Amino acid sequence: MMPTVEEISVKNVVSISIQSTLNEAINKMAKANIINLVVIDDTEEKLIYYMLTIDHLIDFKLESIDGSLCLKDLKLHKAKVIQKDLNILNVLNEVEETDRYMIIVEKDNIIGILSYSDIINNIDPKILMKKQTIGKLILQYKATTTYKNTTALNVIYLMKETNNDSVIMIDNDQKPIGIFTTRDFIKLVHLNSNLNEPIKKYMTTPVSTLNENSTISEAMDFIRDKHFKRIVVTDNENNLVGILTQKELLRVVYNKWIDLIKEQGNKISKINEELLSKASKLEEKASIDFLTKLYNREKFDSFLEYEISKDNRYENQYLSILLLDIDHFKKVNDTFGHLVGDTILKEIAKILTVCSRDSDIVARWGGEEFILLLPQTDIEQATIVAEKLRVTIENHKFETVPRITCSIGVSQFHKKETKKSLFKRADEALYKAKENGRNQVQIEHIENLFEQ
Ligand code: GH3
Ligand code: MG
Ligand code: MG
Repeated sequence: MMPTVEEISVKNVVSISIQSTLNEAINKMAKANIINLVVIDDTEEKLIYYMLTIDHLIDFKLESIDGSLCLKDLKLHKAKVIQKDLNILNVLNEVEETDRYMIIVEKDNIIGILSYSDIINNIDPKILMKKQTIGKLILQYKATTTYKNTTALNVIYLMKETNNDSVIMIDNDQKPIGIFTTRDFIKLVHLNSNLNEPIKKYMTTPVSTLNENSTISEAMDFIRDKHFKRIVVTDNENNLVGILTQKELLRVVYNKWIDLIKEQGNKISKINEELLSKASKLEEKASIDFLTKLYNREKFDSFLEYEISKDNRYENQYLSILLLDIDHFKKVNDTFGHLVGDTILKEIAKILTVCSRDSDIVARWGGEEFILLLPQTDIEQATIVAEKLRVTIENHKFETVPRITCSIGVSQFHKKETKKSLFKRADEALYKAKENGRNQVQIEHIENLFEQ
């Protein structure tokens, strides 16, 4: 038999009060290792349930929602509440596709949660056929009808015109009294009958009918037992509702099933697409500096680690870094304001990107400092690149500020040294450039190589 919603629901439900904060909810989810949490609003007389899902968490993260916000201030979706004894076909008629989750209750106790796809997955096509009535399927299958005194010739014309292989004769109350099919037509031609005689002489009567409340599987049995090719469907008053051929019946059943599956398939692929795009946005957000749109320090670190591991593994690999700091940037801010300072940072970021190779990694180290990773580049080549960048920045006409210069420290990676010592030498070189009067490039002191 059809399972009840309780039977197929997920039972270990964790819930939280709507008065709690988002952070508390996340902690609870992480601790219980669950992907959705029932949020209960018990401030009103009647309990209201909401669902907090991983999807929501991703959205909140993308929108940089503050974790200390109270759940009641977040836009959560109300969850549909369903009594535990309902069977899943009943529920299918009640819920919408958009009700992704349902909460199964017994009085005010949560018994389990259920997703729309759980329901679909648990519907057996055989059971669907046992539950779905033909009345619901037949709407578009109107029968061609006529009266018993119409001539056989006219009935044949009617069949041709409507492209139907049967015509039903009805009485004045619209009740079916006979049927004329292509098989009868062949018989008629074979016997060379008079086609001007009324059809009542040739029709098959009475007509076997099936009530519209019969199920699809009863309809299948009917066709099989009677060796009929079609079913004349009537309502409780025996009025004609329509006609359904065996082929149509099978097609409808098949289509109904396919529709359900397709609907689910579309939904799942849409959800997947959304999740993928959210995940990539999230990753982008985690690795990109908001102001300059360059990589941030974390991302730079991961690139550097990767390049270092390559350098350590293979012979003839070079790798250099440039640490660049804008000169007297504080003065720029003080004179022209912070907003102008921001546009300068953005413009410098653009210069660095345009003037470097595609394989170079340009990142914002923080504040007014930038860092470049130059793979396959030794210290001499790196110094040339640094000098080119320095000159380009010095000569660049900024819209708002007369002149900007920068100082750059250069260091080259030596096998087996740490990321930290490589960076330390670039930083020392940069410090020297500042000390020597700024607007210049300085290279590392190799004696400092293995100092940590
Ligand atoms: P030096 O030549 O020694 O590098 O002098 P400086 O003024 O550039 O260096 P200092 O470290 O004293 O000051 C850095 C300034 O950069 C201070 C800070 O306000 C500014 N700054 C850091 N990040 C940003 C930012 O995102 N936007 C703006 N407008 N200014 C920033
Ligand atoms: Mg600085
Ligand atoms: Mg500076």
